[in-house]
Amino acid sequence: MENYKKIIADVYKDVKNVQDLGQTARFIPELAFVGTDNFGVHITMKNKENFGIGDFQKKFSIQSIAKVLSLTLAYKLEGEKLWERVDVEPSGNPFNSFLQLESDLGKPRNPFINSGAIVICDVLVRHLKNPKEDFLNFCRTLSNNENLNYNEKVAASEKSCGSRNVALCNFIKSFGNIKNEVAEVLDFYFLICSLEMSCEEISQIFLFLADEHFTTKKKKSVITVPQAKRINAIMLTCGFYDESGEFAFRVGLPGKSGVGGGIVAVHPDKFCITVWSPKLNEKGNSYKGMLFLEKFTTKTASSIF
Ligand code: GLU
Repeated sequence: MENYKKIIADVYKDVKNVQDLGQTARFIPELAFVGTDNFGVHITMKNKENFGIGDFQKKFSIQSIAKVLSLTLAYKLEGEKLWERVDVEPSGNPFNSFLQLESDLGKPRNPFINSGAIVICDVLVRHLKNPKEDFLNFCRTLSNNENLNYNEKVAASEKSCGSRNVALCNFIKSFGNIKNEVAEVLDFYFLICSLEMSCEEISQIFLFLADEHFTTKKKKSVITVPQAKRINAIMLTCGFYDESGEFAFRVGLPGKSGVGGGIVAVHPDKFCITVWSPKLNEKGNSYKGMLFLEKFTTKTASSIF
């Protein structure tokens, strides 16, 4: 752990001084109010030892990072049948693309592009009595943290500019792969994307993917070991949209980014690490987050390869 701490502190200093060539997300107006100088990192080891630096305790909009949590709950509830509704192939296309949906007859390529995450929300709306409360409770239980909440202002802000997601959801429904009302599914989707967490909270909640003996406070396991393997595999191949190959190449860990500027990366059997820096590169991934993680796994020689 001492070695990790030193390397994290060194790389943090290094990357802090790099000129940030990114931009904040423009399609969620509320996100533009976040201070672009924020930069935080937090690591939690499997044995719960942890270390943070910079703005690691400030909450931010986790956006698409929440798609791993919604996938986890849907997989838990639906089992292998889930893959009849959504595939597990990288799309090689931007996160909000329509391109492949037409030829794939409304079956999204994977659960992390918007179309796939919207289908996952449809599955959850069907299973959960009170989707909004039940999903939040699932996240709170998973992380043993009652301080997790949605930011309804961010959800409303995204909804006000959400025409593309409305179009995606209607398009998928036209193929019969959305079963509930479009408005209900999208309200839930915008809400889960608005979850707020700090780097520290994210690296804690993702421990269930790093520790195969993980249990909640009540000693319950969350998903099976093969299920965790599959979620990690989808994160590695699809967690960064059309930059997933690049992330695997440069960082070498399963991970997931969000347009709030957060990135979480999981080293199965070792640790979870989260970086937050709000400005995004042209693919929608945190500019400094990518840079930090590349240097971190290179210097610590701790990728999965
Ligand atoms: N809520 C965002 C959207 O639907 C999530 C995108 C992301 O974080 O990649 O466009």
